[in-house]
Amino acid sequence: MSARLVIMGPQGSGKGTQAALLATRLGVPAISTGDIFRANVKGGTDLGNQAKAIMDAGDLVPDEITNAMVRDRLAEPDAAEGFILDGYPRNAAQVEALDGVLAGHGVGLDAVLELTADRDELLARLGRRAALEGRTDDTAEAIERRLAIYEQQTAPLTAGYAARGLLVTVDGIGQVDEVTERLVAALGARVG
Ligand code: ADP
Repeated sequence: MSARLVIMGPQGSGKGTQAALLATRLGVPAISTGDIFRANVKGGTDLGNQAKAIMDAGDLVPDEITNAMVRDRLAEPDAAEGFILDGYPRNAAQVEALDGVLAGHGVGLDAVLELTADRDELLARLGRRAALEGRTDDTAEAIERRLAIYEQQTAPLTAGYAARGLLVTVDGIGQVDEVTERLVAALGARVG
C-alpha cells in the first residue's frame, strides 16, 4: 500500500483523530508535528526547550526547525511506503520544503485531505478538549491565535493543492467513524 497524504483542517476539526484512524487503516504511520514537538517538550530536549514558549503562545515554530524535523522523520524506514502528515505543512514555505523532500526521495503526494467544520463547532470541541487533555496551549488566547494563523496562512494552501489536482475536501462534522468512512470513500483510488 502506498499512500502519501497530508491532512489539513482547523484546530478542533478532528484531524489528529482521523489521521491516526486512517493511518491504521492504510498501514502507514501518522506523523503529527504537534505530537513530535510535545514529546520533545516533555523529554526536555533542545528542540523541546526551543519550541515550548512558542507553542504555548499558539505561534508557529520557525520553519527551519520544523522543516528539518519533518525531513528527518520522512527519512525513517517506516515512512518509505507512505505516511499521513498531520499539522504540516502550515504555510507556503513548508509546502515548498515538503515538495523538495519528497522529490529527493523520487516520490510525491497522492492526496491532500481537508476536513471542514464551522467555527462554532470548532470552539465547542476545543473547549471540551481543553478540559479533558489539559494542553498548555489550549488557553482562550492561544486557541484564538492558532485559529487566526490557520485562516491566514494554512487554509489558503488548499488552493494550490487543488490546482495540482490533489485536494480532497471532506465534511468533518459527524460521528468519528462516519467521518473516517467519508475520508476513505473520498480517497477512492488515489491510494493503493
Ligand atoms: P493544533 O492543530 O491544535 O494547533 P498541533 O498539535 O498540530 O495542534 O500543534 C501544536 C503546536 O505545535 C502549534 O501551535 C505550533 O506551535 C507547533 N507546530 C505544529 N506543527 C507545526 C508546523 N508545521 N509549523 C510550525 N509549528 C508547528
